[in-house]
Amino acid sequence: MQVPLLDLRRQYKQIRDECLEVTEAIYESQQFILGAYVEALESSINNYCGSDFAVGVSSGTDALLISLMAAGVTAGDRVITTPYTFFSTAGCIRRLGAVPVFADIDPDTYNLDFRAVETVLGRMAAEDKQRLKAILPVHLYGQCAEMDPLLEIAKALNLIVIEDAAQAIGAEYKGKRAGTMGNFGCFSFFPSKNLGAFGDGGIVTTNSLDFYERLKMLRVHGGHPKYYHQLIGGNFRLDALQAAIVNIKLRYLEHWTASRQENAQKYKQLFKIAGLEGALGLPAAMQDRHIYNQFVIRVPEKRDALRDWLTEAGVGNEIYYPVPLHLQACFEDLGYRPGDMPEAEAAAGQTLALPIFPELADAELEYVVDRIHAFFS
Ligand SMILES: *Cc1c(COP(=O)(O)O)cnc(C)c1O
Repeated sequence: MQVPLLDLRRQYKQIRDECLEVTEAIYESQQFILGAYVEALESSINNYCGSDFAVGVSSGTDALLISLMAAGVTAGDRVITTPYTFFSTAGCIRRLGAVPVFADIDPDTYNLDFRAVETVLGRMAAEDKQRLKAILPVHLYGQCAEMDPLLEIAKALNLIVIEDAAQAIGAEYKGKRAGTMGNFGCFSFFPSKNLGAFGDGGIVTTNSLDFYERLKMLRVHGGHPKYYHQLIGGNFRLDALQAAIVNIKLRYLEHWTASRQENAQKYKQLFKIAGLEGALGLPAAMQDRHIYNQFVIRVPEKRDALRDWLTEAGVGNEIYYPVPLHLQACFEDLGYRPGDMPEAEAAAGQTLALPIFPELADAELEYVVDRIHAFFS
């Protein structure tokens, strides 16, 4: 049996007619950039997330970059973030000449640990602390970071909070949806996310009218009115085609999320029956609503051998992420060393993502667990 990590063709079958219809309408209109479809998506994302404003942008990476720019983060500023995330979280900070200040993760959720943030703050030199501008937690794998203590720290130090919710659309923390607790929420419509476009796209949510206006300006090179530039922005625009597709998919998202959650429950049950709970760490759903962008198990021993075994058996899998960001070659100048972030480093050596997409059949889930069982016996 072949079980792919993700098979978007199964999803496309459900929405094919609607997609073709809207695509054709856009071709006929020849109106491709921003416009009514993007505005419609911005408004439906506000409804879905419970945010006041939304600005469609060119990718999740650009959502982070434009938020940092709107927050006024510039060269030499410090931004606290997690070392265990997709590269662009810290890449965007560095692209502005600012300095990512890494704090370790919680080993149960893999999210930024507020206790580690407190430790880092306690050790920070006074002049560095003065340049602290923002904190950038990531809601990894579809589960919110523990936000209340992070928001308190931000309030006490007057920091902007930018949530990287690229993997967490619809996830909740104490009744609030990902991306609405800080000053900015950054989402990605990369095809493999829970709500994916047919190409690149993203969106930023905010509850501040000031930030909303800044984001809209920065999206079009900082021009307002057109050709009069108050700020230096970029081309961060979203296509009408991508917005229209995402808006169609948004109507199915609750249903797809429920299927992912059911798959996660089935996995947990199957691993229990197979007696594998001791050998593996299963994902801990600590916050209100985990949306399982990934189902990530922890394999304390022989992770790479299990990975090869599964690949051999036709089971799609991936390591998110093999190298924590503080040890990336491009950040060598920041001066981090192996051992600085022990939890992130352990996670990088032990985690493995398994197929969890909504259309996965029971027989496929059973096959995945059966092959893992065979590996351990
Ligand atoms: C996918 C992702 C991004 C980047 O989104 P793109 O749309 O691919 O640019 C940023 N952060 C996290 C945590 C992601 O998973």
